[in-house]
Amino acid sequence: MSMRTVDVVIVGAGLAAAAAAKRLVDAGLETVVLERKELPRHKICSGILSRRGHRFLLENFGPLPREALHEPTSCRGVTFHFPCMVSMTMDFFGGSTPHLHRKYSDYWAIKMSGAEVHDRTSFVGLEDRGDKVLVHARRQGEPLAYCARHVIGADGPSSQTVRAIYPDYPQSIPWFFVGQKFHDIIDCPLDPQYFHFWFHPGLGHYTWSHARDGRLIVGVGFKRGDNFAKKHENVVDYLAQKHGVRLHPHADDEGCGENFGPSLINRYVFGKGNVLITGQAAGFLNMIGEGMSCALHSGAICGEAVVEARLRNRPVQEMYRRMIASEVRRTSDQWNPLKIAFARPHEADFPAALMALGWRDRARVLRDLWRFVVLYKEFKWGRQIVRAAMQRPLIGGYSMRRWL
Ligand SMILES: Cc1cc2nc3c(=O)[nH]c(=O)nc-3n(C[C@H](O)[C@H](O)[C@H](O)COP(=O)(O)OP(=O)(O)OC[C@H]3O[C@@H](n4cnc5c(N)ncnc54)[C@H](O)[C@@H]3O)c2cc1C
Repeated sequence: MSMRTVDVVIVGAGLAAAAAAKRLVDAGLETVVLERKELPRHKICSGILSRRGHRFLLENFGPLPREALHEPTSCRGVTFHFPCMVSMTMDFFGGSTPHLHRKYSDYWAIKMSGAEVHDRTSFVGLEDRGDKVLVHARRQGEPLAYCARHVIGADGPSSQTVRAIYPDYPQSIPWFFVGQKFHDIIDCPLDPQYFHFWFHPGLGHYTWSHARDGRLIVGVGFKRGDNFAKKHENVVDYLAQKHGVRLHPHADDEGCGENFGPSLINRYVFGKGNVLITGQAAGFLNMIGEGMSCALHSGAICGEAVVEARLRNRPVQEMYRRMIASEVRRTSDQWNPLKIAFARPHEADFPAALMALGWRDRARVLRDLWRFVVLYKEFKWGRQIVRAAMQRPLIGGYSMRRWL
């Protein structure tokens, strides 16, 4: 079996990988990206890119091609719905954001990075020998080997790279399932220009809906092991009764396991030795599941850390952990109730929308939020978020002691 020797191997060809690859290629490092699927590949995602993520793409890769967008091509903001039947619509700061078609946006970004991409090639394991890392992969059943100075795991929530260096990690975090079904619409009063999210303990941890390519997506997220069909049916009934949404039976559906959570409680995994972890594999996920902007930024920082470590001849983990602290703070702040109340960590103004309500509705919304985050008995992490926030002052950094 022949062995390909390069500077860096990146596992995964998503947005975190594209950003890391861009930094490495720009610095002149020979970089190979391994992607287990055939490209362009499907990626389950609502595709609502934050303004920050959009700026990153524009600055690093240029304007998005038309095929990288769904219909409607943009999203104006989010509408939060509460059991008390108050709905709060918030526009994103600075205007609409693109509605990405991940199959094509990610393919475009990885091509624009300039890295060499080996698709249909699955990462299966690695051996860190100190001065180099041997990577074992498989293409259509055939074993392959790579030798690299550094390896970057940008392989998403169920990362094999994380498992290769921390075999017990998957057992140490809670796992969720998110599933979405696509419906042809009979009648839908929900504004198609907004992403809709329900803070409702009777519906699930994560309940959303939005328009895409003439259909309505109805999505549910819950602790792994529950019944997708039942949870989804419950939401469809609720939308019909409470919002007058009338839908045909779903035409398509899809779902996946998700590591929602590490960023809520500042429990990231950044790697070991010459192996770095980034993007959602590292635990980056903003509030209400917005993960593309932090995937892009953490990926770029990861690439920069490798470049810097080589230039300065410093241990790469030390470099990465120091450089990633700002992105950790930004992401974990999104979940911090004190920050939400006083520091506008999001891309839409929740406190202003709340204050625009009459005092009676405001009190109802706060009561519903409290019930959702703190009292929801299945949502034990809600209590951890509140506890984590109370332990953290409004200024200062998050403790690095809990990072792997
Ligand atoms: C239902 C849903 C809706 C979402 N909606 C939004 C949204 O509206 N806005 C938003 O910003 N975020 C959203 N997210 C989150 C967002 O999709 C992710 O946070 C983001 O894609 C993470 O990017 P990444 O590059 O870290 O990983 P990924 O995009 O997951 O990319 C990882 C890549 O690694 C590849 N891979 C995995 N294992 C291997 C292996 N062993 N060998 C080789 N390749 C491998 C995968 O095939 C994949 O291409 C949503 C997520 C879900 C599930």
